[in-house]
Amino acid sequence: MASIFTKIINGEIPCYKVAEDDKHIAFLDINPNAKGHTLCVPKEEENKVFDLNKEAYSDLMDFSRKVAIALEQTVPCKRVGMSVIGLEVPHVHVHLIPLNDMRDMTFQHKVSLNEKEFVELADAIGAKV
Ligand code: 5GP
Repeated sequence: MASIFTKIINGEIPCYKVAEDDKHIAFLDINPNAKGHTLCVPKEEENKVFDLNKEAYSDLMDFSRKVAIALEQTVPCKRVGMSVIGLEVPHVHVHLIPLNDMRDMTFQHKVSLNEKEFVELADAIGAKV
C-alpha cells in the first residue's frame, strides 16, 4: 500500500510544499516540533534511510542541505537540526527543525500554526531554496 507521503507526492493528499525536484519533495510537517519544521522526502518509496543506495542517499542529503540553508535564512533560530526517525511513517524522510532549545528535537514539544502561517512559511522558505 502506498505510504501517506507517496499520496502527498502523487497529489492525492494536500501538503504545504516548500520545494521539489525530480527525485524529492520538501513540505512542512503537519505537527511541527517548531515553526518551520520541514520534511524532505525521496519520491521513490523506501522504508529505511540506510537501505537507500549510495546515490539516492547522497542526493537526499544534498536536497536536504539546500532546504536547510533556506530554512535557516527564513526562520529565526540558533541552527537547523536534522533527524531521521520513520517510526510513524515508513517512507524515508529527513526532519529539518529550526532549533532554539534542545527540547525542539524531542518530538514531545509541539507548536501549533494556523493555515495562513503554514502557507506563508512554506512560500517564504521555498522562495530561498
Ligand atoms: P516519523 O515517521 O519520523 O516518526 O514521524 C513522521 C512525521 O510525519 C511526524 O513528524 C508527523 O507529524 C509527520 N506527518 C505524518 N503524517 C503527515 C501528513 O499527512 N502530512 C504532513 N505534512 N506530515 C505528516
